[in-house]
This record gives sequence, C-alpha cells and structure tokens, in this order.
Amino acid sequence: MREIVHIQIGQAGNNIGTKFWELISDEHGIDPSGYYHGNTDLQLERINVYFNEAQGGRFVPRAVLVDLEAGTMDSVRSSAFGQLFSPDSFIFGREGAGNNWAKGHYTEGAEIADHVLEVTRKEAEGCDCLQGFQIVHSLGGGTGSGMGCLLLGKIREEYPDRIISTFSIIPSPKVSDTVVEPYNCVMSLHHLVENTDETYMIDNEALHDICYRTLKLSAPALADLNHLISAAMCGVTACIRFPGQLNADLRKIKVNMVPFPRLHFFVPGFAPLVSRGAMQYQALTVPQLVLQLFDAKNMMCACDPRHGRYLTAATIFRGRMSTKEVDEQMYNIQDKNSSYFIEWIPNNLKSAICDIPPRGLKICGTFIGNTTAIQELFKRVGEQFSAMFRRKAFLHWYTGEGMEEMEFTEAESNMNDLIAEYQQYQEASTEEGEDGEGNDDDDEEEEEE
Ligand code: GDP
Repeated sequence: MREIVHIQIGQAGNNIGTKFWELISDEHGIDPSGYYHGNTDLQLERINVYFNEAQGGRFVPRAVLVDLEAGTMDSVRSSAFGQLFSPDSFIFGREGAGNNWAKGHYTEGAEIADHVLEVTRKEAEGCDCLQGFQIVHSLGGGTGSGMGCLLLGKIREEYPDRIISTFSIIPSPKVSDTVVEPYNCVMSLHHLVENTDETYMIDNEALHDICYRTLKLSAPALADLNHLISAAMCGVTACIRFPGQLNADLRKIKVNMVPFPRLHFFVPGFAPLVSRGAMQYQALTVPQLVLQLFDAKNMMCACDPRHGRYLTAATIFRGRMSTKEVDEQMYNIQDKNSSYFIEWIPNNLKSAICDIPPRGLKICGTFIGNTTAIQELFKRVGEQFSAMFRRKAFLHWYTGEGMEEMEFTEAESNMNDLIAEYQQYQEASTEEGEDGEGNDDDDEEEEEE
C-alpha cells in the first residue's frame, strides 16, 4: 500500500483539513467513531492510503494537526468527526502567529517544529511504503504559511525522495481584511517553488466569486468556501483513494502534470457547482459537465485559462457514465480549443473515471489544470506585495522577529522569475526548437469559442 501522511496547519488548514476528512470518511464508509459501515469493497481497497488501521478494526486518519493557538484544535475536536483523530496527533502552541510569517517561520513556530516532525516521523515510520506528504494550509496568515514552509523545508530535507503535495489557500482582500497577507503569501510562494512537487492553488478570490456570482450567496461565509474546497480536494484525490489507473498516486500526478519542476502550481476546478445545503440530484449530462469544467467561472483560481495555455490538464469524472462519451467529449473540447493547449506536449489532456460519486451527486467532475494563465494570480499578489514593500510598510513586524529585508527582495524576485518562466513557455512553439525563446504573437484570437 502506498500511504500518505496528511498535515493540516493553522486556522484555514484545520478548518479545511477537517472538512476533507469528514467527506472522505463518509466516502469510504467510515463513521465518526472510526468504524467501517460501508457497502462496497471498493471503499476499503485503498483505505490505507489515508487511514491507519488500529486495534479492533478502527480506522484512524494518518493526520497531524498543528496550530500555534489551541482554539482551532478545540473546534476540530468538538466537530462532527473530531473523535476520529488520535489525541496524539494534535500539536499546538500558546501564542499564535498574529498573521506574521516570521513568527510562524522563525520564532513561535520554530519552537514546536521539532515536536511536529517527531509525530510526522512516527506516522511515516509506521507506513509500509510511504508515497509522500500532503499539507493543507493558507498562505496569507502566519502559522499555515510561515510555519507550514518551515515544516515543508524540513520534511524535504528528511525525505528528499518522497512526494510533497500541498493544498495552499491564496489570500484575497474580498475574504480577509488583514493588510499584510500579500507579504506572507509571497514569502510562502518563494518556498513552495523550491520545496513542493505539486501545489493545488486554491484562491479565496475565485471561491468568493463562485459563491457570489454562481451560487448567488450574498455574503459568502468561510464555511461556504470550505464546502467548495473540500469537494475539489475529494475530487482530485479520488484517483488516489479508489482503484484505477490514471494518476493513481502522487508521483504519477507529478509525472503527468509537471513538465518543468518549478511550474507545479495547479488550478483546480469542480462541476457541478452546488451550494452548501443544496446538493441537488440534478440530471446532469457528461457534455454539460465537460463544458462547466473548462469554464473559467468554475476554476478555483482567479485567472482566465484563455489568457494563457495549458501545459497539461487532467479531469476526473465520478459516478456511472459511459467511457466512450467521456472520451469523445474530451477529444472534442481539446480539438475545438487546441490553441489553448501547448502543442509541444502531445496528449497533454488526460481523463479518468471513478465509479463512486460523492454523496448527493449522481455524477460530477474535477479539473486539474497546469496553465500559464496562473501568472495572473501571481501578478495580482505580487503587485499588492510590491506596493507595500516599495515603502517598506509593516516591515518592522518581520524584522522584529529577526527577518532580513533581503529575504523580501529575494522572494519578490523569485516570483517575478516564475512569472517570466510561465510567459516563456506560453509563447514557445514547436518550431522554435529547444531553446524555447518565444516570439510575441500571444494574441491568437482566431480560435473558435
Ligand atoms: P494561521 O492560522 O496563522 O495560519 O492563519 P489563517 O489560516 O487564519 O490565515 C489567514 C488567511 O487564511 C486569510 O487569507 C483568510 O482569508 C484565510 N482563511 C482563514 N480561515 C479560512 C477558512 O476556513 N477557509 C478559507 N477558504 N480561508 C480561510
């Protein structure tokens, strides 16, 4: 069995991680006390990927829950599935990180990092054949971002040949009103570029827009955003959790999706979009699902894929449907939109079908895109960062915790390099050969809608 160790850290990490465990427990027939009451062997076939089996047949999440303040942990414990987690898996500090990346990375977080690594190591050692780690955190605060990156670096050092995957929440002023979030986010991205193999970019800005525009929620709450995020997380991990061939483990996802090591930031998407409490049994068809999956409005990053090109993409369909119809629809969409897929990676759009749909839906689809359009998101956060950094606003909070101004400069330029790399591959065409130097005709407007 190829096991994954899951780490959730900070407020967002714990809120979203806990929701993820609720959903996958339910999908695998595990009740809130950890016992199996499922109805098909498919639920158990790969249960060990995420769960340990304890004495008496109880299933326990292979999860480490971390925060610098105790409050989040208390709410996890008192949530519907709070008793599922082993009490040893909770690790918390007292002070909190006060939305300060430096506190998470260098001071408060550093103090409990060894404890977290110890618990993580114990989980890893208990595995038969560990495939890697999955970290759920936000990039805008202090704990998930600063301490999350600290742990990331240490795990990378200790397990250089295991895959590290993250679900990273990108801050948006539409959802949060903490002004220093762009600092925390850019500092984090600086580390994610080097230390993760695959990062699902979950952008609060896009989620807010989906809730507001598509789901018509006038004041979306965090729980509404988290409902969408956990649906996408269940979707992208379906191939890992249930039997199948395509993208069946973290390494295969990396091999299929990441053509260049630094360009491993994925845009997730989900269809149909349904609001919390309104999971409908609607009569969706495969063509409708496919259309929605490739629609910019369904993407969980505020960027428009039509402003860039797909390096690679994958879709995971869930529920009973005709393989032939899926193949045809996928062929059509790529054929019609061929100019939005780089042509020098043939067959860069893959799809898989998992028979088991999530609760409340007959069929659904999840999308994973590695698109050069993601530079729009980097630019948005980068501009917010630079506007403050130019005047050195709020810098004293960080230097006060021992950080050097140089680190900010480096993070900023690393992100600018990343943007330039995406742009370079967006413009590169087959004829130009190996150096990948692009020409400037990026406005290819002739393609049909
Ligand atoms: P930390 O506990 O220090 O890691 O800080 P937070 O996780 O609270 O980070 C703050 C950022 O995360 C802000 O951008 C918030 O909008 C976002 N955030 C906090 N909680 C949630 C949540 O439950 N869901 C989502 N989607 N975002 C959250």
